[in-house]
Amino acid sequence: MDVSYILDELNKPQRDAVSMPSHPALVLAGAGSGKTRVLVHRIAWLIEVEQLAPFSILAVTFTNKAASEMRGRIENLLGTPVGGMWVGTFHGLAHRLLRRHWQEAKLPQHFQILDSDDQLRLVKRAQRSLNLDDKLWPPKQAQWFINARKDEGVRPQYMQDSGDINYNQMIRIYTAYEQLCKQSGVVDFAELLLRSLELIRDNPELQQHYQQRFRHILVDEFQDTNELQYAWLQLLSGGKSPVFAVGDDDQSIYGWRGAKIENIQNFTQDYPQAQTIRLEQNYRSTNTILKAANALITHNEHRLGKNLWTEGAEGEPIKLFAAYNEVDEAQYIAGQIQAWVEQGGKREETAILYRSNAQSRVFESTFIEQGIPYRVYGGQRFFERAEIKDALAYLRLTANRDDDPSFERVINQPTRGIGDKTVSIIREYASLQGLSLWLAAQQLLQQKGFTPRAAAAVQGFVQLIEQMAKQSARQPLHEQVEYVIDLSHLKEHFLKKEGEEKGRDRIENLKELISAAQAFEYKPDEDHANLDSLSAFLSHAALEAGEGQGDAGEDCAQMMTMHSAKGLEFQQVFITGMEIGLFPHQNALSEAGRMEEERRLCYVAITRARQLLTLSYAEQRQLYGNTLYGAPSQFIHEIPDDLIEEIRPPVATWDTHSSALSTSPPTRHNDSGYRVGQRVYHATFGDGIILDTEGSGSSARVQVNFDDEGSKWLVLAYANLSAL
Ligand code: ATP
Ligand code: MG
Repeated sequence: MDVSYILDELNKPQRDAVSMPSHPALVLAGAGSGKTRVLVHRIAWLIEVEQLAPFSILAVTFTNKAASEMRGRIENLLGTPVGGMWVGTFHGLAHRLLRRHWQEAKLPQHFQILDSDDQLRLVKRAQRSLNLDDKLWPPKQAQWFINARKDEGVRPQYMQDSGDINYNQMIRIYTAYEQLCKQSGVVDFAELLLRSLELIRDNPELQQHYQQRFRHILVDEFQDTNELQYAWLQLLSGGKSPVFAVGDDDQSIYGWRGAKIENIQNFTQDYPQAQTIRLEQNYRSTNTILKAANALITHNEHRLGKNLWTEGAEGEPIKLFAAYNEVDEAQYIAGQIQAWVEQGGKREETAILYRSNAQSRVFESTFIEQGIPYRVYGGQRFFERAEIKDALAYLRLTANRDDDPSFERVINQPTRGIGDKTVSIIREYASLQGLSLWLAAQQLLQQKGFTPRAAAAVQGFVQLIEQMAKQSARQPLHEQVEYVIDLSHLKEHFLKKEGEEKGRDRIENLKELISAAQAFEYKPDEDHANLDSLSAFLSHAALEAGEGQGDAGEDCAQMMTMHSAKGLEFQQVFITGMEIGLFPHQNALSEAGRMEEERRLCYVAITRARQLLTLSYAEQRQLYGNTLYGAPSQFIHEIPDDLIEEIRPPVATWDTHSSALSTSPPTRHNDSGYRVGQRVYHATFGDGIILDTEGSGSSARVQVNFDDEGSKWLVLAYANLSAL
C-alpha cells in the first residue's frame, strides 16, 4: 500500500510517531513543532494502514474550531469523509454522550445547557432559598467553588463537614444548587463532563460498549486537561485502548481553571509502557521569533525542558511600539494592517492579541472608524448578548417549561406588569413544594394565590409561551425562531426602552439569530440523537457561544485573547497592552506560580507568529473607567535587545522597580517644566490639571483639563501658567 502521502511531509521523529505500533504515546514538544499535524496524520494512518473504522476513533481538541479543522484535514488527506468518527471538545463529546443516553444519565430528554451567567443566577437563587445574604456570601465565590468541586469530580453528598463555617455553607449552597438544576432540567458546563463520566462509570453495559468501540483515543493540547477530563479519558480507554496524547508543558495556561500540568507526568506513570516522543524542529516561525520565545521561557523555573530550533530564515526584528495611550496603540496597528493589505497580505493572516476581553473595544471602534473588517473571538459573544439570551430563553421555555433560569429571565421581559413581589411568591411556592417555577405559577393561578392584577399578567405569560410552543411546533426552525421573537415583542420593547440607535442594534442582532437558525444545519445524526431541531439549535448556541462570529468568508483581521489563540498561527501577530499589571495580570504579580503561567501565556502568544511580530504597550490607558499608568512588561525585557527594534521610544521613564499598575503617572521627558497630573492655574480658564505635554523650546505645548472649561492645548510660551 502506498502510504507516502501520509508520511512524506513529515520529519523522522514525526513519522515515527505517526506510524508507531498501537500502544500509549506522549508527544511532548514545543510550539509549532507539528504536534497537531502529527495527530492528524496519525488518525489518517490508523484508518488507512491499521484499517480502523473511523467509528472507533475518538479525538479530543480544545475548541470547536480546532475540531472542525481537524476533521477537514483528515478528510483532505484521505480524500473521503470520515462521518462516524468522534472529534470534538471535551464538553462537546460529553454533551453527545448525555444526549444519547439521557435516560441513563437521569436527565430530561430536553435538558438545556447553562452558561456562566445563567449559572450565577441559579446560584443566587440557591442562596436566597437558604436565606444567605449576597453580600456576606458572594455568589461568584460559590459558583467558583461549585465548578472547582465538579472539576475534581466531587458531589456535595460526599463532602465532609470540616468544622469550617465557610466551607460548610458552600456545601449547603452546592446541594441547593444541584437540587435547582435537577428541578429545572438544566446542566452547567462542568456538569456535562462530570455527569457523562458518572454515566459511563456507573453503567457497566455502556462502559463496555464504549470501551470496545473506541479503539484509539487521541488528545491535543494535553497540558491543559484537568483532573476530571483526564479521568474521563482513562475511563473511556478502559486501560486497553491506547491513548495518544500531544502537548507542551510550556503552553499550559489554564491552571487557573484547574488544568493540571501534572497530568503529563502522571501519564507516563499511569501508562508505564507509553512511549515519549520529542519533536524539536519548529516549522512555524522565523528564527528571530523563536529565539525570543526560547529566551523568554527560560525565565520559568518549573519546566520539563526542551530544545526548539528552526531551519527557517532569520526574519525581521521584533517591533516594539510605545503608544501614548490605548487609542494611539489601536491606530498604529490599524495602520500596519492597512499597509499589510496594500502589499498584498490578507487581513485574516493578522491577529491582535490581548490579555483581557475589555481591551477589544478600542480596537473595534478604531477599526470601524477606518473601515477595516475584523472579527472578534470571545468577548461580547453573539450568543451571550442580552437580547439574544432573551430570545433564546423564550425558545428554551417552549422546549422545556421547567427551565427555571429562562423562566426568570423573561417572565417580565418585556415588562408585562409582573413585579418582583409576584416573582418571589412564585419562587417561594416553588421552593416549598419542590416544583419548577412554571408549575408553581400554574398551581398558584389555580389556587388564586395572586392578586387579580398579577394573576391576569401571569396568565398572559403562561398563555403566550403555550401559544409560541403550539404555533411554532410544525414550522421550520428559522420560522419558529422568527415567530417566537415576533410574539415576544422584544423588538418593540428595545426600541422603546433604548431608543432608535441602540434599539436598532439589538434588533439587528435578533435578525441575525434568525439567520443563524437558518444557517444551522440540522443533521439528525448521532450528535443530536433523538432531538428535534429546536433543541439541537439551542444546544448548538450554548456550546458554540463565542466562536467564529462575523461574516464567514469575509477577509477580517482577527482579534482575540491570548488564551483563545492557543493552537493557531498567523503571518503577523500584534501582542498588545504589554504593561505590568495588564500583562502580566495584576493578580499574578505577587505569586510566583501564577507569574510562570503568565509567562507561558506570553510564550503561547509569541509563538503564534510566523513572519512578523509586534509588541506594544501604552504609557497611559483608559480601562475599566480608570486612567492607568503601567510600566512596560518585564516580558519585553526578557527578550534579548538585539532581537528588538524600537519603533517609537517611550516619552516617559518608569521607576524600574515599579511592579504594579499605577493610577499616578510616571515621570515624562519634557522640557516644559510641567509633568502630567500636575495642577496649574490660568488667568482666564482657572484651575486645571496637565493631561499631556509635547514639543520643546518655544513650541512646547501642554494639554490642560480645566475644571470649568474642559480640555485645551496651550502653547507654554504664551499661556502664563502657574503651578499650584
Ligand atoms: P502548537 O504548539 O502551537 O499547537 P503544533 O506543535 O501543534 O503547535 P502544528 O500546528 O502542527 O504545530 O504545526 C506548525 C506549523 O508547521 C503548521 O503550519 C504545520 O503545517 C507546519 N509543519 C509541521 N510539521 C511540518 C513538516 N514536517 N514539514 C513542513 N511543515 C510542517
Ligand atoms: Mg497544536
